[in-house]
Amino acid sequence: MEKIRIGISSCLLGAKVRFDGQHKQDSYITGTLSHWFEFVPVCPEVELGLGIPRETIRLEGDPENPRLVKTKSGEDLTDSMKAYCRKRVAALSKEELGGYILKSRSPSCGMERVKVYSKKGMPSNKGRGIYADELVKRFPLIPVEEEGRLNDPALRERFIEQVFTLQRWRRMLQESNTRGGLVKFHEQHKYLLMAHSVQYYRAMGRLVAEMKGMKLATVQEEYLEMLMSALRLRATTAKHVNVLQHLTGYFKKQLNSDEKQELQETVAAYKSGHFPLIVPVTLLNHYIRKYDESYLKQQVYLKPGPTELRLRNQIY
Ligand code: SF4
Repeated sequence: MEKIRIGISSCLLGAKVRFDGQHKQDSYITGTLSHWFEFVPVCPEVELGLGIPRETIRLEGDPENPRLVKTKSGEDLTDSMKAYCRKRVAALSKEELGGYILKSRSPSCGMERVKVYSKKGMPSNKGRGIYADELVKRFPLIPVEEEGRLNDPALRERFIEQVFTLQRWRRMLQESNTRGGLVKFHEQHKYLLMAHSVQYYRAMGRLVAEMKGMKLATVQEEYLEMLMSALRLRATTAKHVNVLQHLTGYFKKQLNSDEKQELQETVAAYKSGHFPLIVPVTLLNHYIRKYDESYLKQQVYLKPGPTELRLRNQIY
């Protein structure tokens, strides 16, 4: 499979570009994720010409619109950094990025909870790095995460799911950029969407059902916006249980009472936090294969990413 291009803060790959000449290599990123992702590194501070090592910088003033200044000299870098970010992020449009991983807490790269200092020198954790801000405004549909948050299994899973879904979407546009292609895409993502939001799933279904007479490109644009918004919502245990109940309903006729009970017990054990989600999903996949259930075979929910990424394997 072709690797997915993911933008990343250079220091997370091990590049010694930080203010102190060090790096912040993240072994999950450079190890596990690198098998599936091809990284496009950017270090805004070095690319702006601040040098290595360099004086530390920080955000100051209004958290909604902070200034970027050198901590000791007080030199204000806001305008030059903003101009650089606009140019650099615009250039990234050509990279067809499928996601972005940012270094947390950085006044340039941090996505959220970055310290912003008041006039009196008091910090509040309400800021966003200057580069990160330009990035999320320019690419609102691209999944973006920070390396620290990828240590949380639920957030990691959500990010990976979003990245692979966006990749399937782009592949669909390349291979079958038709109304039929969109209908099929929606069908394949039914249970994945339901695990995040039944409301979005229904709204997207209505859009697909009523697209006759609308321009396909307009429908696709609306659909993609809803798709990425839906996947940003948390797939809770209750939502997964709802999906699992729907899926078990497909085997009412084929399974004997013992098998049905085992399946229900497995779902109940997931619900009560004794099994990870992969256990009922694996049992369902077994029956899907055994009874050649073609509609379910195409469901992305049952295999949202490569097995090696161990999605659905954690209890949380
Ligand atoms: Fe460069 Fe961003 Fe890493 Fe800072 S956090 S060293 S600006 S890539």
